[in-house]
Amino acid sequence: MVYKALPGTKDILPPEILLWQELEEKAKAIFSSYHYQEIRTPIMEELKLFVRSVGETTDIVEKEMFSFKDRGGREVCLRPEATASCVRAYLQSNLPLSEAGVKFFYLGPMFRAERPQAGRYRQFHQMGVEVLGSTSYLVDAEVISLSIELLHAFGLKSFLLKLNSLGCFEDKKVISEKYREILFRKKEELCLLCQKRMERNVLRVLDCKEGKCKRLIAELPPTPELICKECQKHFQSLQEVLSLLKIDYRIEPHLVRGIDYYTRTVFELVSEELGAQDALAAGGRYDNLIEYLGGPSLGAVGFALGMERIILALKKSCRLNLEEKCLDIFLITLGEEAGKEGFFLMQLLRKKGISIDMDYTEKSLKAKMRRANRLKAKFVLIIGEEEIKQGNYLLREMSSGKQELLRKENITEELCKRLR
Ligand SMILES: [Zn+2]
Ligand SMILES: [Zn+2]
Repeated sequence: MVYKALPGTKDILPPEILLWQELEEKAKAIFSSYHYQEIRTPIMEELKLFVRSVGETTDIVEKEMFSFKDRGGREVCLRPEATASCVRAYLQSNLPLSEAGVKFFYLGPMFRAERPQAGRYRQFHQMGVEVLGSTSYLVDAEVISLSIELLHAFGLKSFLLKLNSLGCFEDKKVISEKYREILFRKKEELCLLCQKRMERNVLRVLDCKEGKCKRLIAELPPTPELICKECQKHFQSLQEVLSLLKIDYRIEPHLVRGIDYYTRTVFELVSEELGAQDALAAGGRYDNLIEYLGGPSLGAVGFALGMERIILALKKSCRLNLEEKCLDIFLITLGEEAGKEGFFLMQLLRKKGISIDMDYTEKSLKAKMRRANRLKAKFVLIIGEEEIKQGNYLLREMSSGKQELLRKENITEELCKRLR
C-alpha cells in the first residue's frame, strides 16, 4: 500500500522548490528594505480567535476551517490566515509600539477546506505584512506599493490593482443598512444563500459569485459614496499618494473582501494571466480589530499574497527559469579503501564551502561517470586503488574533458584554486 498526500495538499519538490526559495529570498530583501521584521506564529490557534476576528458569518469560518477538539477538549483550528494570529501575538507579547508602528512580515502555510482546484489548495502558502499602530493613509500606500514591488520582483508584470474603501465601523453599519433596504425589495432575485446572508451580514452578499446576485450587487450605490467625510478624505489622500507613486488602480465600488474585520481601505491585485477570479495578493485596513481582540484602539493595515497562485501565474506567463545549482565536484571512488579516503576528503572540502557529493554505490566507473554528467558537475574527482598507491588523484573538468593528476598533499588548495 502506497500512502498519498491528503487531497488539497502537495509536496513541493526539487526543482520547483528552487523557485520557492528564490521568491522567498527576493521577498525577504524587499521586506528588509521597508523595515519589516519577521514574525512566526503557531499554525494552530484557539478556534475563537478566528471566529471572532474573521467573522462568524464569513465563508472562511462557516465552511472552510480545519477545526477540531484537541485531547484536552480545547477547540482549536489550523490558521486560515495570519492577521488574527499577528494581532494576538502582538497583544500577548506587550511589544511596545514604536512611533511608526510595529511592522511584521510572515511566510508560511495556511489552511482552508476549499474544494481543490487549479491554484487552490487546502494547505496553501502566504507571505504578507501587518502594520499595527497607525491610521495614516501613508501606511496604506506603503503596503500597497510593497505588494506591487513584490510581484514585480517575482517577474509578474500584468496585473490590476482594485481599490475600495468601506469606511469606518459606523460607516459599515450605514452601508449595511442601506444595502439591506435595497436588496430586501429584490429578495427573491437573490440566491438562497444570499437571502440568508442578507439577514445575518449583508456585506457577505457582495462576495457572492452567482450571476444573478452579481447583477444586483452592481446596482448598489458605491461604498465610497456612503462613507463619512473623514473616511472619504482618507480614501482621497490615499489615491493622491498612489498617483504620486504612478501606481495605476481601478476603484471597485463593491469590493469588500471576504473577511469582517476590514475597515476603510481594501485592495486586491488581480492577475491578467489567471483571470479575474483569483487575486494574487489582497489586503486592507482593520482599524477595529486590535481593540476587538482586547487591545488598545489602534489602526492597522496589511496584506497577504498567495504563493501557489503566484507560481501558477509565473507558469502561465512562462517566466519560469528553474536552474538547479550545479555541483562543484562529483567524487567517484573505486574500492573500499578509496571510499573511506574519499569520504574523509569530501567532508574537508564541504567545510571549505565546496559543493561536493559522491556515489555511494559499487557501480562501475562508467556508470558513475554517467551520473556525474546527469548532475552537471563541474569537476569529477576520481580516486581508485592506483590513485591511492601513487598519491595522485585524477581530476576531470567536465566541460572540456581536460584531465590532470593532483598531488594528494595539496589537493584542497588545488581544488579551491580551480573553483574560485
Ligand atoms: Zn467613516
Ligand atoms: Zn448569492
